[in-house]
Amino acid sequence: MPTTDPIARVSVISTGSVVIRPEHVGPTRKNTYVWLFTSTRWTAPRPINVYVIEHRDGLVLFDTGQDRASVTDPRYFPGGLNGLIYSRLAKFEIGPTETLEAGLSGLGYRVDDVDKAVISHLHQDHIGGLPVLSGAEILISEQEWNSLDGPLPEARGLLTSHIDLPGLRWNRITPGPLADPELTPFTDGHDLFGDGSLVLLPTPGHTPGSLSLLVRRPATAPLLLVGDLTYDARLLAAGKLPGAGDKRQMRATVSRVNALRDTLPGLVVLAAHDPRAAGLLAETLAERAEHR
Ligand SMILES: [Zn+2]
Repeated sequence: MPTTDPIARVSVISTGSVVIRPEHVGPTRKNTYVWLFTSTRWTAPRPINVYVIEHRDGLVLFDTGQDRASVTDPRYFPGGLNGLIYSRLAKFEIGPTETLEAGLSGLGYRVDDVDKAVISHLHQDHIGGLPVLSGAEILISEQEWNSLDGPLPEARGLLTSHIDLPGLRWNRITPGPLADPELTPFTDGHDLFGDGSLVLLPTPGHTPGSLSLLVRRPATAPLLLVGDLTYDARLLAAGKLPGAGDKRQMRATVSRVNALRDTLPGLVVLAAHDPRAAGLLAETLAERAEHR
């Protein structure tokens, strides 16, 4: 861990909004397919967050949001039974000013400035920026990438035709041993710039290859960007699981993340669709300013 901060700025933007089923947020005892096909309710609108980190060695995105084409192109989603699954799972609203390009521009960046984009997992609301990221290195876990080859990818939320685009520079990583006692109980990870400030950690459960990004800075509480491991950081802190994903893996991962608080006190968990995430980030950054 460097004593001078290699990170200049951490921001969050949202590519539109999404409503999902309350059972999806969880906790629920119902099987995923039971609530998926019987739920009659939707949550209030939630963000589709993209985290933007300005590191001295490059501009990093954690997730890339949902493509606006998904709400303007009737052929973006599959038809038939798979199409029905997508329409039961979530409803998106993405205005012309809510694209990844527009969000980055609002922060004073161009899409060409992005050096690395980490994809927490390959569901469509996390890969939407890929068509404009041909200049960046796209990081994904090898395990998540390999899930594209499994049976019925579309039914598992993987729209291969929107993922495996020509011209993208993929870096498929396998988390390896990290000798960093602060990361206990995590033993494996991938240090993005080799200075300990940005470390990818394997957090399986929502999907088998899901990654989270730990952000450590000298004068601010550590952040853990968790993708869809939770939809509400308070539920995660209470050990409660969402309604979709591998329950056994999620339980193990959630308890590991909560155990990480022992060595990283004040750890702030920021999820992709937690309505409180942007406020939590703002509060954390404001505390940093006070300590100056
Ligand atoms: Zn998601």
